[in-house]
Amino acid sequence: MPPAEVEPTAVVVIGGGFAGLNTALQLAAAPQPTPVVLLEPQERFLFLPLLYELLSGEMRRWEIAPRYQQLLAGSGVVWLRERATRINTSTKTVQTSTGRQLPYQSLVVATGGRAETYGIPGVAEHALSFRSLEDVERLQALVQRLRQQQRPLQRLVIVGAGASGVELSCKLADLLEGSAIVELIEQGADLLPGSKAFNRDQARQALLKRDIRLRTNTAVTAVAADGLTLQRRGDAGSTPERLSCDGVIWTGGLAGQVPALDPPLPLDARGRLICNSCLEVIGAEALFAIGDAAACPFRDAEQASHPATAQVAYQQASCVSHNLRQQASGAPLQAFNWNDLGEMLGLGVGQASITGMGVTLAGPGAFQLRRLAYMARMPGLPQQLRVAGAWLANWL
Ligand SMILES: Cc1cc2nc3c(=O)[nH]c(=O)nc-3n(C[C@H](O)[C@H](O)[C@H](O)COP(=O)(O)OP(=O)(O)OC[C@H]3O[C@@H](n4cnc5c(N)ncnc54)[C@H](O)[C@@H]3O)c2cc1C
Repeated sequence: MPPAEVEPTAVVVIGGGFAGLNTALQLAAAPQPTPVVLLEPQERFLFLPLLYELLSGEMRRWEIAPRYQQLLAGSGVVWLRERATRINTSTKTVQTSTGRQLPYQSLVVATGGRAETYGIPGVAEHALSFRSLEDVERLQALVQRLRQQQRPLQRLVIVGAGASGVELSCKLADLLEGSAIVELIEQGADLLPGSKAFNRDQARQALLKRDIRLRTNTAVTAVAADGLTLQRRGDAGSTPERLSCDGVIWTGGLAGQVPALDPPLPLDARGRLICNSCLEVIGAEALFAIGDAAACPFRDAEQASHPATAQVAYQQASCVSHNLRQQASGAPLQAFNWNDLGEMLGLGVGQASITGMGVTLAGPGAFQLRRLAYMARMPGLPQQLRVAGAWLANWL
């Protein structure tokens, strides 16, 4: 679409993940729809919480990664398949990867996060990440290679025992079926620091059952093509340990990824835009930030922030679309109030653990319930029905 055709007063949303896509859809579906332009360079939306099931083949690509063209058909949202490269908050324009200057009345930054490597040597060059369809393909190829060659002492190392690291370790151990040792490295004192006690216990049992070795209080200090270097925490005098392995998967941290800003705005220590409780970016006019790219005050505590989850991103989308409509009519904005719905963890093929909404459940029943809950969160009714149909067909 040439620039002249873009409605100059449109709300522009940057990023079509959980936060951005739901914001755009809600604005366009309101009784008095707001013209909205969505900037998203990828062809497919990615339902990240089900990426493990794509890795294991329990779900298919079309189920967890529907095309934007299909999701946005008939919605009224204008989708530009372009990357935002620079935001000018003085002229209220967004520059895109094609050189387009897109004027906006209000702007929502929902560009998500990226793996944080903390500058540790070799991580960017040698470790695999787990955030994209390409990452899944690379990991599937590695699993296949390890299963086929069956050399003694093959080893995969996952760094970070948060939810991503634990879920990935369990799925990988099931897929490898003993053809490689799986190790999970955590610099903190325990796995799943922010999780509910029941889920943490279930996760411990799942690791034990699969012979996954968990090393806590252990920091990774370097990664190379054929291994990594470890240092025990609180034991500075100890000799660093060298661990050889066939692959390192990095789930050790998350940083916000935000386009360049003109004039620059302060970011928090994790590279996220700093917002007030109504999700407005501090220091700029008509600029909102949500999801993993935003640091918004949590329960009035200045320092703490919400967890980087799809649940938070989804709820912030509802809040920001409400606030954009309020702003347009000169009405007061609403503070974001996170409603913690609990936590669901996939713990291997066909297994999960759930704590929340009055449910505490583990095993195959939890796996099906988790899948059902995520189905209800798929963007748009047609995609929900397509995925539900495929799920039922598997059962019949
Ligand atoms: C493997 C994995 C499993 C997870 N499991 C869970 C789970 O079980 N439960 C849970 O609640 N959360 C889970 N999360 C976290 C959750 O997925 C994120 O918190 C959520 O996706 C954040 O939503 P977002 O919209 O902020 O960012 P994202 O979903 O990452 O979307 C950001 C979008 O912005 C686009 N973008 C980036 N830069 C630009 C740019 N410059 N211009 C235009 N577009 C841009 C990207 O292409 C992307 O589509 C998981 C995350 C991962 C990686």
